[in-house]
Amino acid sequence: EGGQEVILRCEQVSVEFDGFKAVQSMDLTLKRGELRFLIGPNGAGKTTMLDVICGKVRPSSGRVLYQEEIDITRRKEHQIAELGIGRKFQAPSIFSSLTVGDNLELAMRQNRSVWAAMRAVLNGEDRSKLTRQLERIGLADKTHWRAGSLSHGEKQWLEIGMMLLQEPGLLLLDEPVAGMTDKETGKTGELLRDIAKDHTVVVVEHDMEFVRNFASKVTVMHEGKLLKEGTMEEVQQDSRVAEVYLGH
Ligand code: ADP
Repeated sequence: EGGQEVILRCEQVSVEFDGFKAVQSMDLTLKRGELRFLIGPNGAGKTTMLDVICGKVRPSSGRVLYQEEIDITRRKEHQIAELGIGRKFQAPSIFSSLTVGDNLELAMRQNRSVWAAMRAVLNGEDRSKLTRQLERIGLADKTHWRAGSLSHGEKQWLEIGMMLLQEPGLLLLDEPVAGMTDKETGKTGELLRDIAKDHTVVVVEHDMEFVRNFASKVTVMHEGKLLKEGTMEEVQQDSRVAEVYLGH
């Protein structure tokens, strides 16, 4: 699971909202090629952690390092996105009236210079990239469908495909299987595993069955703090984790 290279390091991150401590002294280290699940009860601070990493929320203390050397703690959201950290929110941000293929092409050409785009078009690089992603997200036979006519699950996969075409180093996903059918959920798990072969992925997830089926390494948060980190087995055997999920 993952190489040795650290892609993201959050050190002692704290976040306050009007004096309320949403995240407290949180450490999180991710290695390249990891598929990490971030779990914990409602209000644990999971989404806030993703917000900190992508620059949507400023921590009150602590720091966030990308690829060990780049301090992104005070950078703006768009600057962090340009560094290759992609965030997917629950609501898909696709263009419903465009086709699946056009959505993917648009994503591929975002933030690219005219010259880079021209070169990629001329040497056929774009076509092969597009085909590869279409197959990966399971929409190869729906290239010409209007994105708005896809199922809920397919829309989520399309958006994941759009993110992948921007070649991110780190992907942050917020409850990717929410609202999906069982079949779609299973396919999404396989897709995330496949993506983690050449990307680093962090998934905030509430669906515990999904986590059990697809997580290898899990980080558990509770009341803004790190409660437990380890393999799914280690986490499940932890009495404090059980208490947090069953108690109250
Ligand atoms: P989780 O994703 O684990 O459910 P969140 O990170 O969304 O938890 O929220 C952590 C805590 O911070 C919650 O108590 C939530 O109400 C609070 N919170 C989150 N965002 C804000 C905000 N913008 N303003 C005030 N409180 C917030």
